[in-house]
Amino acid sequence: MVSRVIPVDPFDLVIFGATGDLAQRKILPALFRRHCDGQLPQSARILGAARRDMLAAEFRDLVADGLHRGVPDADPDQIRSFLARLDYLALDATEDTDDTTQTTGWQALVDTLGSPQTDRVRVFYFSVGPSLFAPLAEQIWAHGLADTNTRIVVEKPFGHDLASARALNKTLASHFDEGQIYRIDHYLGKETVQNLMAVRFGNMLFEPLWNSQYIDHIQITVAEMVGVAGRESYYDRTGAMRDMMQNHLMQLLCLIAMEPPAKFDPDAVRDEKLKVIRALEPVEPHHIVRGQYVRPTGATSEDLTYRETVGAERSTTESYVALKAHISNWRWAGTPFYLRTGKRLVARSSVINVFFKDAPHSIFGADAGRHANLLTIRLQPDEGITLKVTIKEPGPGGMRLIDVPLDMSFAQALGDNIQNATDAYERLITDVIRGNQTLFMRGDEVEAAWAWTDPIIAGWGARGDVPKPYDSGSTGPGDADLLLRRDGRDWRGIKP
Ligand code: NAP
Repeated sequence: MVSRVIPVDPFDLVIFGATGDLAQRKILPALFRRHCDGQLPQSARILGAARRDMLAAEFRDLVADGLHRGVPDADPDQIRSFLARLDYLALDATEDTDDTTQTTGWQALVDTLGSPQTDRVRVFYFSVGPSLFAPLAEQIWAHGLADTNTRIVVEKPFGHDLASARALNKTLASHFDEGQIYRIDHYLGKETVQNLMAVRFGNMLFEPLWNSQYIDHIQITVAEMVGVAGRESYYDRTGAMRDMMQNHLMQLLCLIAMEPPAKFDPDAVRDEKLKVIRALEPVEPHHIVRGQYVRPTGATSEDLTYRETVGAERSTTESYVALKAHISNWRWAGTPFYLRTGKRLVARSSVINVFFKDAPHSIFGADAGRHANLLTIRLQPDEGITLKVTIKEPGPGGMRLIDVPLDMSFAQALGDNIQNATDAYERLITDVIRGNQTLFMRGDEVEAAWAWTDPIIAGWGARGDVPKPYDSGSTGPGDADLLLRRDGRDWRGIKP
């Protein structure tokens, strides 16, 4: 049942920021697993680059350490053969050195890579801070390192607001075509996120009911147990709205709400996602709740508050956000989408709940109570789908109705195949090499998402909004519950 492993075309991959956390923890282990599966052709080369001056052998040692930690059951022979593909060059993204005798710097990169070749894909992965994206694009171009067969991969965050995203798009566009730019949102590479499209468009069952006539409302929850430790300074400048809502939750919303694309093709899918973002109504200030985690009563002082973690006593950055969104189109008019995400919540859980409307008339009378179908799509952990259906309670005593789950855990249904499923970075990196942009955000999509987000953030600033405190380990601030209760609804519980 597992898909066949088809080797990708020969490629040279340059990872800028190869000594950093993302490269060591995600990108290189992902490449290693593809190597183990025989998906990387013999001639594929992986070149690390960063400012730190070190030999290729030292870089290989660094990667080997990371693999031993991140892939504990890795076969030592496989590690050895993977390391043999790796090389390293010290260079600074922002500085040029014209000294051609140097073994470091951009000229050394030119010498190592040679001229771009039509039969060899060349990928530059920008795993560095966003301020280096533009200098890197310029250096690559200035050194003649790119041609039409060259792709660049740009990590999130893609801009801080609409203006910065536009400026970045413009700089990248002056050197690369949109078809060469791969903006990563690793959420889109998750098996279950893609399953959203398979469930919606691969089954006749759901699509006829997928509209405001049959769906009462939809809840999208991305809850995390971790706090912001390790990313304090970045997070305090960013907040949950920019870090999660503008990209991950927005992408989930698009996949749930979009029209069926004519085909599973990058631009057809991204055109439909863009239409959803553009149809989003501005969010009313009373339809959004911000929160910041605090220490629960009785907890020890080791349980740091958000402000203690980031070391800013008066920080007004939100670690939680919940909002009600409306999509102004024929399909969704009148069906609200409730979205929430937060840190230090009760459980780690990403889930989409689709609440269907009550049957128009109950033939069982008032005593039977209210029963409506609920489709739950669990993205993590324990990926799967549950459909709550109404049946007769077994036994004598008349027609009493109960709701039971039709439950499918992908782990149970697919066994090892789901355990062995490729992780998001593996899938996304091989998609880049194959030239498939379906799971990457297009420039106009990113800008439209910022255009919707910016006024919300500007409104908080203008109103001097202060996030509501919520206890670490809870489900978020009480006001988020009121957001739904005012509409006669409740959040579905956050379960591990
Ligand atoms: P990091 O640990 O700080 O690593 C940054 C890398 O960039 C290091 O290898 C650093 O090495 C290199 N670098 C810095 N300045 C440079 C320069 N002028 N020229 C060349 N190389 C330079 O950062 P990270 O966590 O890996 O994140 C990298 C990017 O991915 C960021 O945009 C981040 O937002 C994004 N991201 C990270 C994660 C994650 O889980 N870490 C998740 C999603 C997105 P030297 O100092 O030796 O040059």
